[in-house]
Amino acid sequence: MLEQKCPTWQLEMLLQSQEKGLFYALDLGGTNFRVLRVQLGGKEGRVVKQECEEISIPTNLMTGNSHDLFDFIAAALAKFVASEGEDFHLPEGRQRELGFTFSFPVKQSSISSGTLIKWTKGFAINDTVGEDVVAELSRALDRQGLDMKVTALVNDTIGTLAGGRYDDNDVVVAVILGTGTNAAYVERANAIPKWHGLLPKSGDMVINMEWGNFRSSHLPLTEFDQALDAESLNPGEQIYEKLISGMYLGEIVRRILLKMTQEASLFGDDIPPKLKIPYILTTPHMSMMHHDGSSDLRTVGAQLRDILGIQNTSLKTRRLVVAVCDIVAKRGSRLAAAGIHGILKKLGRDIPSSDKQRTVIAMDGGLYEHYTIFSESLESTLQEILGEEVSSSVVIKLANDGSGIGAALLAAAHSQYL
Ligand code: ADP
Ligand code: MG
Repeated sequence: MLEQKCPTWQLEMLLQSQEKGLFYALDLGGTNFRVLRVQLGGKEGRVVKQECEEISIPTNLMTGNSHDLFDFIAAALAKFVASEGEDFHLPEGRQRELGFTFSFPVKQSSISSGTLIKWTKGFAINDTVGEDVVAELSRALDRQGLDMKVTALVNDTIGTLAGGRYDDNDVVVAVILGTGTNAAYVERANAIPKWHGLLPKSGDMVINMEWGNFRSSHLPLTEFDQALDAESLNPGEQIYEKLISGMYLGEIVRRILLKMTQEASLFGDDIPPKLKIPYILTTPHMSMMHHDGSSDLRTVGAQLRDILGIQNTSLKTRRLVVAVCDIVAKRGSRLAAAGIHGILKKLGRDIPSSDKQRTVIAMDGGLYEHYTIFSESLESTLQEILGEEVSSSVVIKLANDGSGIGAALLAAAHSQYL
């Protein structure tokens, strides 16, 4: 998993908590992006006030050109800055500062610069690859006439780890389960063979695993996974992500239902045309059907009608659809739990410790947050693997928008005015 370029962070960089003042963050990681501002009150005050807005990215911009994408983002940010109220204070003569959460594989060259290695999660914009994304953003901010300096570039796992650690020192792992998936964890510097720099004071480093790109001959892929991958924007890449994350679960279900229709007339003799459209069935649709508690599965029926144009389904058919959702969601959640277990094992936290040390996993992402059956299955699988005793000291904490706040904190920690 660590074969890929994994930016490492010195833990000290994430651990300052004295920061004060107004900071902005921009979180770009999937279908939506968020803009956020926080007023930090220093060690005692912590986060005094925060505001956030979520904006969806028009799909044509995800596969267009770099200039248009960054212009769209900068324009939305400029509008958000214009709405800054009186509760937020920027000292006279100071420039606004921003932490940029950019959750795609990046070769980090400094705290505030890094070049894009490749797009994932449905983005494909050739002219950004190999470019410094902070420079791209800064130029777009200039074009908007927005006077703002990007002082930190992070991805969502690092942001979530920083944000999580800010209010709980026992956070050692951050996991993202949203449109895509990734994880970061705190490692002893001397356990990192690739690290040839000076050892940090604490001896601890943070590793961004880019685990979405994990693949192995031990990871069984079905014909549905193989076809999904082959027809994706990034064939051969992000295989673990394609088994687990929100962008893909609904699409896997669609492919299975299509095959069941073709081979066993699941929805009658004709194949419903909409069922052939890639990505038409999203993970939120799947989750709605999966959570249907009614005796006649009427939500399943309504979703099949509204999304796929399939009328008058029998209860038996609806049950089959739910069973498919269950298999796909449980496979994803159990694989995600296995990944977390792998990290705990690497850290030696998979066995009972004499000091009963807490291990906290900061979790962020819409899939984990909203897909209850998925998150419950993940937690019960982790318990199943770890056993009762170890499980009692392992906590998964939902760090809602942790990555955004973390980026603002890191922007503050690396302010030009310190
Ligand atoms: P990102 O990963 O883009 O930063 P989020 O963390 O907000 O975004 O996660 C968004 C993803 O979460 C969506 O792409 C979707 O797959 C998944 N998701 C959102 N709502 C639900 C839901 N109700 N049920 C299942 N999955 C959901
Ligand atoms: Mg995110």
